Amino acid sequence: MRVLQVCAEMVPLLKTGGLADVCGALPAALQSVGCEVRTLLPGYDAVREGVQVSGTAIDCPAGPDRQPAVRVIPATLRATGHKVYVLESPAWFRRDGGPYLAADGTPWPDNALRFGALGRVAALLGLGLDSSWRPQLLHAHDWHAGLTPLYLRLLAAGRRPPASVFTIHNLAFQGVFPASAMAALGLPGSLFHMEGVEFHGQMSFMKAALVYSDALTTVSPRYAREITSPEQGCGLDGLLRARQAQLTGILNGVDYDIWNPATDALLPLRYDADSPQGKLAIRQRLGQALGLRERPQALLFGAVTRLSEQKGLQLLPPVLDALVAQGGQLVVLGSGDTAQEAALRAAMDRHPGDCVLCTGHDEPLAHQIMAASDVLLMPSRFEPCGLTQMYAMRYGTLPLVHAVGGLADTVTDCALENLADASATGFSFGDFTSQALAAAVRRAFALRQRPDDWAQVRRTAMAARFDWSRAARSYRDLFETLLNRHPDTASTPRAGASPVRSP
Ligand code: ADP
Repeated sequence: MRVLQVCAEMVPLLKTGGLADVCGALPAALQSVGCEVRTLLPGYDAVREGVQVSGTAIDCPAGPDRQPAVRVIPATLRATGHKVYVLESPAWFRRDGGPYLAADGTPWPDNALRFGALGRVAALLGLGLDSSWRPQLLHAHDWHAGLTPLYLRLLAAGRRPPASVFTIHNLAFQGVFPASAMAALGLPGSLFHMEGVEFHGQMSFMKAALVYSDALTTVSPRYAREITSPEQGCGLDGLLRARQAQLTGILNGVDYDIWNPATDALLPLRYDADSPQGKLAIRQRLGQALGLRERPQALLFGAVTRLSEQKGLQLLPPVLDALVAQGGQLVVLGSGDTAQEAALRAAMDRHPGDCVLCTGHDEPLAHQIMAASDVLLMPSRFEPCGLTQMYAMRYGTLPLVHAVGGLADTVTDCALENLADASATGFSFGDFTSQALAAAVRRAFALRQRPDDWAQVRRTAMAARFDWSRAARSYRDLFETLLNRHPDTASTPRAGASPVRSP
C-alpha cells in the first residue's frame, strides 16, 4: 500500500514539537507493517540540508494567480534513507526565522499561501504528478496540511481521488485566515459556507480537513472523545460530533531508538532499570552544570515543554514555595510565550539554587532533564497525546500530570489500589487548579517516603512500552478499510497520469 504522508515538520530534519516526532517515527513503523510511505515536506533550509536528492525535479502546474512557481524534488533522508518529496519554493520556505513564525514571534503573513501550497502539491502527487510513484492514500497531519483533502477533490477533475486521512495533533491550532485567502488559494467562493470551510467569517484549514477527509484520527482515544465536547472542541465540536463515526483515537508511540536511557547518546552516561546508578550521576552532573545547590536527597522535578497556556505551567508559581519547602528542586526547559516565561522566572528566581529556568529549544538538555529528574511535571490544561510523559517513564522519571487527553490514557496514578496491583506509573490530578497540582506534588513526596513503593512504581514505569508498532497496525487497518472502499485507487499506478489544472 503506497501512502503519502504530508506534514510541515519531521524529526530529524526539523522539530518544533511532538508533531515532528510522530511524523519522523511513523514511516518506518508503517513500513514494518506493509505500507510503503513517502513524505512531502516544505523545502526549508533544514529540510534541504538533511536530504540527498534522488531524482529529477518535477515542475508543478501553475497555482492560482501571482503565486511563485513550485516544484517537488524527490530525495532521501540522509539519516534514515526514508524517501521524501521536498516542496521547493525559495520565496516561501527559505527565510530566516521559524517554520511558522517570524523571529518576532508573529505568524508569517503569507502562511495561508505557504501551507496552501503544501496541500495543493500533496493533492497533485496524489493524482499522479510523479508518474513513477502514485500514492493510494494521503495521510495529512495538522492544519498545515489541512487543505490536502479539499484540493484532492477539486483537482481530481471528475476522476476518483485517492483516499485521504487527516490526523489532528492539536485542535487548538487551526490555520484560520481572512476570507480573502479563498481567492488567493484558488478555492471557489461556493465553499465559503458553514458546511464548507467558513469559520466565523474566516476560512479555516483545520475545518476544511475535518469536512473533506475520508477519515479523521487524533492522537489518543481520550482526546478523540474530548474534542466532541464544547469544552475541548475549540468551536469545531459540532462538526466532530457529526463526523464521529469517521473519527478514531490512535495513541502515539515512542521511538525507543531515540528515547532509551540505555543507548541515548545525548546523555553523559547511560543506565537502565537493572543499573539505575547512572541516573543519579547524570542528576549530579546536570545539577552542577545548572547551578543547583547540592542536595542529593532532594526530589528533582523537571519539565520540558513549550511555554504556552496549554501546557499549564501557569499553575506552578503558587506551588513553588511549598515544593521547595518540602525538599524539592525544579528544572524547567521551556520556550514560547514570553509572558508565561516572565511569570515563571519571577517565581523561580525566589529560590536561587533550587529552581532553574532554561529557555530555548535544546535537544541534549531535554534528554538530560528527562534522565536526571525524579518527577516530570506535565500539568497541561489539555493534551492531545503528549510524548514527554511517555519518554519520562522510560527514563524512570515519574510523570505528574493533569488527567486529560493522552495524559489520562498513559499515566496510572499512585492510588492505593494501583500501588497494590503494581500498575501505578505516576501521579495524576483532576481539577485544573494550583491546589490540585500542589496536592499531587505532596503525594509525590509522600511516595518518596516509601522507598519500596517508589522503586516499584519506577520499575513499572520503565517497563511500560508505547510501541509504534501498535499504532502503525491501527493506522494500517484504517488505511486498508478505506482502500477497500476505493478499489480503483488500490490498483497499480497509472503511469504518466495527465497533469491536472488548478481550480
Ligand atoms: P507538544 O507537541 O504539544 O509540544 P509533546 O509532548 O507531544 O508536546 O511533544 C513535545 C516534544 O518537544 C518532545 O519531544 C519534547 O522533548 C520536545 N520539547 C518541548 N520543548 C522543548 C524544548 N524547549 N527543548 C527541547 N525539546 C523540547
